[in-house]
Amino acid sequence: MPECLFCRIVKGDLPSRKVYEDELTFAFDDINPKAPVHILIVPKIHLPTLVDAGPSEQELLGHLLLAANKIAKEKGIDGRGFRLVLNCNPEGGQVVYHLHIHLLGGRQMRWQPA
Ligand code: 5GP
Ligand code: ZN
Repeated sequence: MPECLFCRIVKGDLPSRKVYEDELTFAFDDINPKAPVHILIVPKIHLPTLVDAGPSEQELLGHLLLAANKIAKEKGIDGRGFRLVLNCNPEGGQVVYHLHIHLLGGRQMRWQPA
């Protein structure tokens, strides 16, 4: 049975350019970067979308944001700034149904809600 793409990346069954890992989180370069820094931060457990998360995911969701904080510092873009994007379900533009946060940086972001 074909498994979720990002679950396979987390397991190492599919290659990725890993940038960060801890007990709950895995982060890797986006294959089609929209900015000089474009990293996907994912939970190691399979959670399809943000709206599948409940109170038991509170720690995990906080963990993902703190991972973004650490990665931004490691990449040296914490002071310049960066953007986090979380697409949810079809009208949110979600394509891969394993919860992920995009960390975008290294260039000036514009407000383009499209
Ligand atoms: P979404 O639209 O679901 O928020 O974003 C999915 C992201 O996953 C896209 O930015 C896309 O480029 C990225 N992506 C899709 N397939 C792969 C892959 O196999 N490897 C990596 N590293 N990124 C992927
Ligand atoms: Zn998954």
